[in-house]
Amino acid sequence: MNIKIVLVQTWHPGNIGAAARAMKNMGLHQLVLVNPVDFPSDEAYNRAGKATDVLDNALVVRSLAEAISDCQWVVATSARDRSIRLPAFSAETCGKQAVVEQASAPVAIVFGRERMGLHNDDIQQCHAQVNIDANPEYPVLNLSQAVQLISYEIFKANQTTPPASREEEAYPLQEDLERFYQHLDEALHSIGFLKPAQPGQTMDHLRALFRRARPSSKELKLLRGVLSAAESAAKPDSRSDK
Ligand code: SAH
Repeated sequence: MNIKIVLVQTWHPGNIGAAARAMKNMGLHQLVLVNPVDFPSDEAYNRAGKATDVLDNALVVRSLAEAISDCQWVVATSARDRSIRLPAFSAETCGKQAVVEQASAPVAIVFGRERMGLHNDDIQQCHAQVNIDANPEYPVLNLSQAVQLISYEIFKANQTTPPASREEEAYPLQEDLERFYQHLDEALHSIGFLKPAQPGQTMDHLRALFRRARPSSKELKLLRGVLSAAESAAKPDSRSDK
């Protein structure tokens, strides 16, 4: 399946090994490690059982952006409500949606640091969030056990989800979305809506809006066209030829 498990800055190598095992048990093989504190390590291999191939093939990258740039659906996992609200999925619905989405382009499920979870700037790069239901008095699972439960839901969903029967709308990859946000930011500056002196949270709010709306690739192209037209209209010399 075209689903990556992304672990951000994992502190304990045992958790990396246990996550690899959890993945292989459930038929997942693509492990991406963003700045792991200690990898490769004996401890990770000791905890991986017969899933050492998952560790051998793990991709180590320097940023979350790099890990997810080729993905069309990126899900943040979190034990608690975040200040940034993303469309929320249960573990079960996340499994089902991941199986559907991965048929057209890679999907990433992103797991946070043992102590700090995911930071806000990690979450800003995700399209949705998933919360594993647990005891409200202590809902924080061990990292590898969270990987286990999400992988299990993906495994179950894969057995029951019928192959997509109709042409799905094509969605942009994360790198295309980031380029759009960059363009939006530049255009809003050039038309004077955003001021360099007052950065504020406007872009965060706009990201939230587009996340909810989830423009298709075609719609994103249209929006890029609107931005380009606004930029050229804002250029000082653009009125002289009218
Ligand atoms: N103190 C951190 C907890 C991190 S636990 C925090 O408050 O966010 C390490 C990681 O395990 C989390 O970042 C998340 O990826 C995963 N995790 C733990 N419990 C979870 C739960 N109930 N639902 C979804 N993911 C969970």
